[in-house]
Amino acid sequence: MKYISTRGGISPLSFSESVLTGLARDGGLLLPQTIPDVTAHLGAWRPLPYAELAFEVMRLFADLADEDLRRLIQKSCAPFRHPEITPVRAVGPVHVLELFHGPTLAFKDVALQFLGNLFEHLLRKTGGELNILGATSGDTGSAAICGMRGRDRMRIFVMHPHNRISGIQERQMTSVPDANVFNMAIDGTFDDCQRIMKDIFRDLAFKDRYALGSVNSINWARVLAQIVYYFYAAFRVMERTGAFEVTFSVPTGNFGDILAGYVAYRMGLPVRRLMLATNENDILSRFFNTGVYSQGDVVPTISPSMDIQVASNFERYLYYRVGEDPERLSRLMKPFASDRRLAVTVEQGRPVDPLFTAAAGNTQETLAAIRRVHRDYGYLLDPHAAVGVHVALREMRAGEAVICLATAHPAKFSQAIIDATGADLARHPVIDGLKDLPTRMDVLPAALDAVRAYMEQRMGGPQVRATGADAARSAGRPQ
Ligand SMILES: *Cc1c(COP(=O)(O)O)cnc(C)c1O
Repeated sequence: MKYISTRGGISPLSFSESVLTGLARDGGLLLPQTIPDVTAHLGAWRPLPYAELAFEVMRLFADLADEDLRRLIQKSCAPFRHPEITPVRAVGPVHVLELFHGPTLAFKDVALQFLGNLFEHLLRKTGGELNILGATSGDTGSAAICGMRGRDRMRIFVMHPHNRISGIQERQMTSVPDANVFNMAIDGTFDDCQRIMKDIFRDLAFKDRYALGSVNSINWARVLAQIVYYFYAAFRVMERTGAFEVTFSVPTGNFGDILAGYVAYRMGLPVRRLMLATNENDILSRFFNTGVYSQGDVVPTISPSMDIQVASNFERYLYYRVGEDPERLSRLMKPFASDRRLAVTVEQGRPVDPLFTAAAGNTQETLAAIRRVHRDYGYLLDPHAAVGVHVALREMRAGEAVICLATAHPAKFSQAIIDATGADLARHPVIDGLKDLPTRMDVLPAALDAVRAYMEQRMGGPQVRATGADAARSAGRPQ
C-alpha cells in the first residue's frame, strides 16, 4: 500500500516512510492510495481476539513483515490492564466501548503504544534518529510521552497550553523523568500550539536537518491503530444483540478518532451512522449541520481534550468528500487559510452527509449525562465520553445498536465527577500515584521562534542523522 497527500504534491510513499514523515511535504495529510474493501473478510474476522484482528486490519495498510507486525501489536497490547484491550460494556440502552485501559487511561494509548514500538522498529532498521514534536490539548501528550519515553534514537518534545489542561493531565506529562522527554508549556491555546507545530513542520529544511517526526493524529499510523477497535466493538455488539449494523457515538476534537470510524465504514464495516459529538467548541458539529466550516474562539470546557476549533484530520474527510481529487480539495481549503471559513455545497433539504449525525453537548448537559448514567445504571462516565453519551441518548432511534466511545477513565477528570454527582467517586491507582512525583516543564511564549530555539538547543545541533524517508531522498548529500 502506497501513501499519497491530500494536496497531491508528493510522489507516493511507503507506509514506513509515511509514518516517519507525519505531515506531507506539500502541507497536506497522508492517506492510503486506496481503502481496501474487507466485506468478504467480515465473517472470518468476527471471532478474532483483539490482537489477531489488529494484525488482519493493519497488514492491509502496512509494509511490515508479518512476524514484525505481530510482535509490535503484541508488545503494544501488553501494557493494557484489560485482557480484551478495548472491552464493550452494556450500559442501559447503549454499549460503552472502554478505550481507557492503557497506561495513561486515555484512548490515545491504543495508538501511541503502537506508534512508539513502530518508530523504534523502523529506526533500528534505518539506523536513523527521530525528534518527535507534538501538541496536546491534554491526553495526547501523556500518552505520547508514555509511548516514547526512554527509547533509543528518539527525543520527544510536547507543547501544551499552559494552565489550560487539568492538573492531573499536566502531572501525567511532566512527572516523567526520562532524559529524552521535554515538556513545553505554551502561553496560549491548543490551537496556538497546533499552529506552531504545523509551521515548524512546514519548514522543510529544519524538518530534514533534525529528522522531525509527528505523534499527532496527523500521523496515519495513529488512525490505523484506531480503526481496529471499531471492528472489534461492532463484532461484539452484533454478537450480543443480533444487529446487522451499528452506530457509533464519538466525542470529537481533532476528528482523529471518528476518522478511524469513517475509514472502517469505507472498508465495509456495516455502520449505520456516525454520531459526532462536540462540546461548546462545536466547529465540527456546525459543519455537519450547515456545510460551513468556520473557526470560532476556543472556549475552555470540562472536556479539555476536545477544546479544539481547527480539527487537523478534517482535511482527510474533505478529501473523500470531493471525490479524492487533490485539486478540488486544495480549492476547497483555500478560503480557510485566509478567512478561517470554508463551505461545501449541500443540496436543498438534504443532510450535509447522511452518515453523520452531529450535535454539541454543553457543560450542563455533560454533567447531567454523568449524573443520570451513574444514577440509573451505576456507571461512571468521564466528561468526554459523557458528551458522546448525551448525544447518543438524544439522537438514538428505536432498535438502533449504539456504541459510545469512552475515551478516558473518569479518574482523570475527578473534578467533573464531583461536580456531577457531589462525590469523589472516580479513583484510579495510576492517578493517585502521581501526587508526590517531582515534575519538570518549561514555559514558553506562543511564538514559533521561541519554540524552535528551545528545540535546537536541546537537539544539540544538526548532527542528528536523517530518518528513513529523508535519508532516501537526500542520499549522497552530506548531512
Ligand atoms: C483526544 C481526546 C478526544 C478527541 O479525540 P480526537 O481524535 O481529537 O477527535 C476525546 N476524548 C479524550 C479523552 C481525548 O483524549
